Amino acid sequence: MNIYYHPLYTKGIDSKSTFPKERYDLIKDALAVNELSNTIAIKTPNKVEINDVYRAHSKDYVDAFLNSDLSEKQVREIGLKPWSDKIIDRTLFLTGGSVSALYDIYKGAPVSANMAGGTHHAFSERGSGFCIFNDIAICAIKAIEDYNYNRVLIIDLDVHQGDGTASILKNNDNAYTFSVHCKQNFPFKKESSNTDVEVESGVDDQAYLNILDKSLDTLNSVESDILFFQAGVDTLNTDRYGKLSLTIEGLNERNKMIFDFAQKRKNPILILMGGGYSEPIDNTVAAFRDLFIAAAKYSL
Ligand SMILES: [Zn+2]
Repeated sequence: MNIYYHPLYTKGIDSKSTFPKERYDLIKDALAVNELSNTIAIKTPNKVEINDVYRAHSKDYVDAFLNSDLSEKQVREIGLKPWSDKIIDRTLFLTGGSVSALYDIYKGAPVSANMAGGTHHAFSERGSGFCIFNDIAICAIKAIEDYNYNRVLIIDLDVHQGDGTASILKNNDNAYTFSVHCKQNFPFKKESSNTDVEVESGVDDQAYLNILDKSLDTLNSVESDILFFQAGVDTLNTDRYGKLSLTIEGLNERNKMIFDFAQKRKNPILILMGGGYSEPIDNTVAAFRDLFIAAAKYSL
């Protein structure tokens, strides 16, 4: 299995800021010593093609970002600190990592992953919540328009709602958005996904997994030929933004449910990383390590 990673993923943002950039290197280190490490290839992505970005975002917004011309309000809403021009290349590689992983799947891989992405709060005309371009929507449109997939099923299990994805894809019948998120968490004004499942703050493994199991059953009538998994681990009990009480074991069970679900419908899976802000960061790293290992097993 390929996992896309670029050194610039960790550049242009301050580790002391709200966004823990150190998680990338730590996850890479954790994967390198795993027994499945010989089945995982860390690949360098290309920058995303701007024409792919224009299909999900307004040209005005994309060009303003690329020309360092966003308003102070727009920069504040994105929330990455300190804001600098390094964020431009970082964003282009980070979004490119998701598109590169999608290309692997188009070429026959059962699973491919980006060690970043899942930037689901980015809307057509603005960024939000650490997200600048919405790689999920960009990849969904590319999968449909360039690679002839009939239905992209997007399963977003980050603790925060996939509001930007829902908004960008709301009129696209070839994409189906499914988001399980904490009701009391950001974004406080929710968008309408095709299916939204709200869980109350504080739910534990068992309650969460029961809800997920029942919700996945409702997708039985939704056909798909490719699955995108926004696999955020900010549902962990140690996450500083999460508000839920899942353990790493609970998250591993969650991931298994998604891989089993994909296997049943013989769908390949594009894995996008999403949020994870545990303090200390170790639990986030362990949860993502286990996710990528489970994905590597799916590829065997
Ligand atoms: Zn999140």
